[in-house]
Amino acid sequence: MRLSSVLKAMAPVLKSFDYLVIGGGSGGLASARRAAEFGVKSAVVEEARWGGTCVNVGCVPKKVMFNTALHAEFIHDHKDYGFDVELKNFDWGRIKAQRDEYIRRLNGIYETNLEKSKVEKIVGHAQFTEDGCVEVNGEKISAKHILIATGGRPAMPSIPGGEHAISSDGFFDLECLPKKVVVVGAGYIAVELAGIFNALGADTSICIRYDQVLRNFDEMISSSLTEEMERAGVKVHKRTQVTKVTEEADGTLTLELNTGSKVTEVNCLLWAVGRVPNSDKIGLGKVGIKTDGQGNIEVDEFQNTSRPNVYALGDVCGRALLTPVAIAAGRRLAHRLFDGKHDLKLDYNNIPTVVFSHPPIGTIGLTQAEAEKAYGADNLKIYRTTFTPMYYAMTETKVKCSMKLVCLLPDEKVIGLHMLGQGCDEMLQGFSVAIKMGATKRQFDDTVAIHPTSSEELVTMR
Ligand SMILES: Cc1cc2nc3c(=O)[nH]c(=O)nc-3n(C[C@H](O)[C@H](O)[C@H](O)COP(=O)(O)OP(=O)(O)OC[C@H]3O[C@@H](n4cnc5c(N)ncnc54)[C@H](O)[C@@H]3O)c2cc1C
Repeated sequence: MRLSSVLKAMAPVLKSFDYLVIGGGSGGLASARRAAEFGVKSAVVEEARWGGTCVNVGCVPKKVMFNTALHAEFIHDHKDYGFDVELKNFDWGRIKAQRDEYIRRLNGIYETNLEKSKVEKIVGHAQFTEDGCVEVNGEKISAKHILIATGGRPAMPSIPGGEHAISSDGFFDLECLPKKVVVVGAGYIAVELAGIFNALGADTSICIRYDQVLRNFDEMISSSLTEEMERAGVKVHKRTQVTKVTEEADGTLTLELNTGSKVTEVNCLLWAVGRVPNSDKIGLGKVGIKTDGQGNIEVDEFQNTSRPNVYALGDVCGRALLTPVAIAAGRRLAHRLFDGKHDLKLDYNNIPTVVFSHPPIGTIGLTQAEAEKAYGADNLKIYRTTFTPMYYAMTETKVKCSMKLVCLLPDEKVIGLHMLGQGCDEMLQGFSVAIKMGATKRQFDDTVAIHPTSSEELVTMR
């Protein structure tokens, strides 16, 4: 043991709590506040901005930009609906300023909510000491229960010139809409941000390692979205990786690709190739908390780590990286530890997921490929439809909607629902209740359709 570590372990404990949460993001805040409702003396340590990824550089500012992009799309359809509207200018700076102001308000609301809940706020970087306490700003804190909810950060590959690229965090710092953008990655963050750039008028390319985006999604989703992105004008560079980046004298970037070709005059290169857990700088080794090969903290179904009375949840565990998952796990943990609900845990099956692509995606349950692997193709019945939503009957631009139900025989229980098209983001929540309850295709069919909507297709498929 190094001398500094010995001294830290010997340092007096200055504060102690029943529940200490490391990370003031989605999961940490939800858990600490719920615990405080049960009269538990709780504290949250946060080293950056209250609210974590979702509020500051994730869901919230992203959705503002998605909505901004929707305006751009609707403006193109205005004339088809009889409106004589000319698009003269788009002021990125204005929406950025409003968005930043909104986020600042949310940061304040999160802080106030902690105060109202009587959760102590501690600002600083937390890390474990050898004796199982937590050190922040040189002060040692002890707690009966400690939750690690430190989230993750964007992965940045190391290639020559890679420092000229930005990540999704940097997207939210852009002061203007770049003229020419290359997004690298095929996951949901890559397609969402590429979709926003493209809809707002940037010359947008996306470099993907294989032939389709969102390869972990149902095949119908990955192929339809790849086609839709191409139709909308995104240049999809398939089987392509950026190998070298050079900054030119005029400030633009030249990208060298593994295919041997180059992309020149790039104003923004955005890397969206995955996220790494924030588990490397919190002293896990000192307290023997196990991680997997990627640094994700290993937990059991009750969010217990390998050390007693230390728990982890949310993105730092690397599973279902979504805000409502972190919140739900955090609240359930608080009930389990402090409210006598000893068996309460989050069921990670059938988590509904939306991708705010253009058009948006809603998906829950098993993909067709996963269901075939689990049950065999002969035990499944697949319903599929593709149609043009009525909105586009009046417009020159046509964007298709595709839907699929994966049903398990003999009673046709719906075990997967996948859809891509206008409004699918808002359609999914209600259908996910039905699927979580174990609904069958027959029960879908017994539900009277709502007409004229796209969602009626889900209860009329044959
Ligand atoms: C671009 C983007 C878009 C997204 N869009 C969506 C979406 O539409 N819907 C959705 O559900 N999810 C979305 N997500 C994912 C979502 O943001 C995360 O799943 C969620 O924020 C995870 O919550 P968490 O509590 O695990 O971690 P976080 O919210 O990341 O919070 C972790 C906090 O811990 C702090 N921290 C880290 N280490 C320490 C330390 N040692 N000491 C003190 N504090 C520390 C960090 O500063 C951070 O504030 C998006 C993510 C990104 C990046």
